[in-house]
Amino acid sequence: MSGSITGATAVAGVIGRPVRHSLSPIIHNAWLAAAGIDGVYVAFSPAPDRLASLIDGLRGGAVRGLNVTIPYKEQALALADRASGRAQRAGAANLLVFSEDGAVTADNTDGWGLLAAFGVQAPEFRAAAAPVVILGAGGAARGAAAAFVDADAPQIRLVNRTVARAEDIADALGDTVRVYGWDQVAGALAGAGAVINATTLGLEGGSPLELDLTGLPPSAVVMDMVYRPLHTPLLIRARAAGHEIVDGLEMLIRQAEPSFEAFFGVAPPRDVNVRALALAALELRA
Ligand code: NAP
Repeated sequence: MSGSITGATAVAGVIGRPVRHSLSPIIHNAWLAAAGIDGVYVAFSPAPDRLASLIDGLRGGAVRGLNVTIPYKEQALALADRASGRAQRAGAANLLVFSEDGAVTADNTDGWGLLAAFGVQAPEFRAAAAPVVILGAGGAARGAAAAFVDADAPQIRLVNRTVARAEDIADALGDTVRVYGWDQVAGALAGAGAVINATTLGLEGGSPLELDLTGLPPSAVVMDMVYRPLHTPLLIRARAAGHEIVDGLEMLIRQAEPSFEAFFGVAPPRDVNVRALALAALELRA
């Protein structure tokens, strides 16, 4: 938020349920203040049976746009009038933009944010150099797989408990995507250039992620989308074994950049440390 709210204040936000934990308001409002934009970014938590009417009611520029988080990403895509190719390939939207003419356009910046996080924390990593292992086959895994298809990864190895879910992604994205059960994970890690946790395993207070990294090439980058805690047990073990690591908070921050530009027409300012603000908020809530 840039200061006092005026009649001209531009509004954007995030929808999810629950949404109270979202770090997006902290990130976007810090950017707004630093850029001196008369805008505000707020969180909405519509009941599931009100999602469609909320989105319909915001048509025509009532708000500039909305980010979308769990559990509404798939429905958001379905409710939009048009969607970017990357949102269609991901099968989900994390961004809705409301035009003055009433149209709602869906996009998905999660995959972009994932690759941008690699660019910041593992700059030597090249997606096209070696197979990439993605653990999980939910919305986040599907978006990641689509991003790595677009980035010319030679092979994407999806490891999931429910193999049929991973097979659906492979059917949608083509034969660079291969499917593995957890009993085949060692084979998936062999020769990989990166492994990405896109399951909910490792989340504070939840079930741990059991993964033996011994067969993973030492040059492979290990990334965890889970960012509570910031350094998950997976990242701690990976770093101890000499792997470069990429954390989920960096992905969260990077996926917000194109959203901010879509809402407010300018790239986020570089002179504000939103990572430090988000980390402080995470610690406050720990
Ligand atoms: P989702 O659709 O609910 O998928 C959850 C995934 O975790 C599925 O593959 C599921 O396997 C697997 N899983 C859950 N419990 C498991 C267990 N006990 N054993 C084995 N596998 C298990 O969730 P999502 O939307 O894809 O999100 C996944 C994670 O990514 C979440 O922690 C989310 O917060 C995070 N995320 C982070 C960012 C970021 O910017 N850092 C962005 C998006 C998502 P089954 O298919 O077998 O159920």
